[in-house]
Amino acid sequence: MQTFYSTGGKAPQADIATAVLQSLAPDGGLYLPEKDIRMDEDFIASFQKLDFPTLAAKLSARFWGEDFMPLEQWQLICEEAFNFPLPIVKVKNKAFVLELFHGPSAAFKDFGARYMARLMPLLRKDDHRPLEVLVATSGDTGGAVAMGFLGVPQVRVTILYPAGKVSDLQELQLTSLGQNIRTLRVDGSFDDCQALVKKAFLDPRLNDTLCLTSANSINIGRLLPQSFYYWWLMGQLTKVLNPEDLSQLTIIVPSGNFGHIFGGLLAQRMGLKIPQLVAATNANDTFPKFLATGVYAPKPSVATISNAMDVGKPSNFERLFHWLGASAEGVRETLAGFSFSDAETLQVQERVFNETAYVLEPHTAVGWLAAEQFQQEGKPTVVFGTAHPAKFLDVIPQALQPAVSMSPSLSALIGREKQFTSIPNNFSALQQVLLR
Ligand SMILES: *Cc1c(COP(=O)(O)O)cnc(C)c1O
Repeated sequence: MQTFYSTGGKAPQADIATAVLQSLAPDGGLYLPEKDIRMDEDFIASFQKLDFPTLAAKLSARFWGEDFMPLEQWQLICEEAFNFPLPIVKVKNKAFVLELFHGPSAAFKDFGARYMARLMPLLRKDDHRPLEVLVATSGDTGGAVAMGFLGVPQVRVTILYPAGKVSDLQELQLTSLGQNIRTLRVDGSFDDCQALVKKAFLDPRLNDTLCLTSANSINIGRLLPQSFYYWWLMGQLTKVLNPEDLSQLTIIVPSGNFGHIFGGLLAQRMGLKIPQLVAATNANDTFPKFLATGVYAPKPSVATISNAMDVGKPSNFERLFHWLGASAEGVRETLAGFSFSDAETLQVQERVFNETAYVLEPHTAVGWLAAEQFQQEGKPTVVFGTAHPAKFLDVIPQALQPAVSMSPSLSALIGREKQFTSIPNNFSALQQVLLR
């Protein structure tokens, strides 16, 4: 079985159940696998032939340890979790978008959430306390978690969100699901919601009764599923690009907390050759600044139109530095990074639409801006399309809006009833709901 160590260096090694259910190590560090995770040479030579769930199952068995679960069971889990299309769209000559937003919440976070939802219930063994996933959300993550865990037996999800601070569509996503999803509308800010959740994890009474866990973006269980499609993409592109083009391929990941691009580093560790990996950020440019100056200077986030990437202190840097070293020179060997303003983002959305009729939503557009630097050198590029344009309609230039088709999963929500419990911003109110 795989074991995990903490980047903090002071926590004991953890098994898979501890690493996933705990999320954050007791020393405040993040978990990484202890043992070798490289795939065998047979796999590396022939993975191009595999379909997505089979690839995901084989990578899972290797990562978590072959003795954790039989491959056939991984296959079933992966077929169930990844039951939506994953198109590679050619926008222009040798310039592609990998559309990762055709899952139920219309953003790439479905990959991590749907996988975790099926993994978590298997981790408890003799623990008879009900599994309670507790999440504070400012919008996007909550929707993916709620939809990922919807209807999963023996798990309940409680989502806290700040009243009046999420969009109408996001609120619908959080509150209209029912079943095992419970939503608490907190009279406070996102930070208040997060503080309440943190308090719950430390509360002895709650922990006696419930097996509390979180599914947040630092969880090691979310990173692996975000590496599967790097493999799948490289495999599919061998059928489309000639070997010379393939050897110059650049993958661009619109980045915030750097969990998504860490999936690419994970794929590389497991043996995948990715010629060039690029992180694209908005005005929250901590990473490109670090690459350029050698100084790592996290700072408060600034608000942009690509708001899921508004992160000034990316939580996965800890893992990144641990693997790549903390010197900019060392990191530059593996990753490049660029930052773009909202004005540039709006411009490129119009420009690409006028040229190709393809609509880039703001996060993907930031990625496209970085891709253009490589396209100018004649290199093929793939930008990760992280969200469906319908999800960010209000920040897409007006001229493009009529061309945005509704996402089927989002339109299914329209007109549904919102169900939530309003609570004041105080801990005993949360405690009462959880113990009811
Ligand atoms: C979460 C998110 C990102 C950023 O991903 P990280 O793993 O935080 O780097 C980019 N785009 C969208 C739409 C997202 O929801």
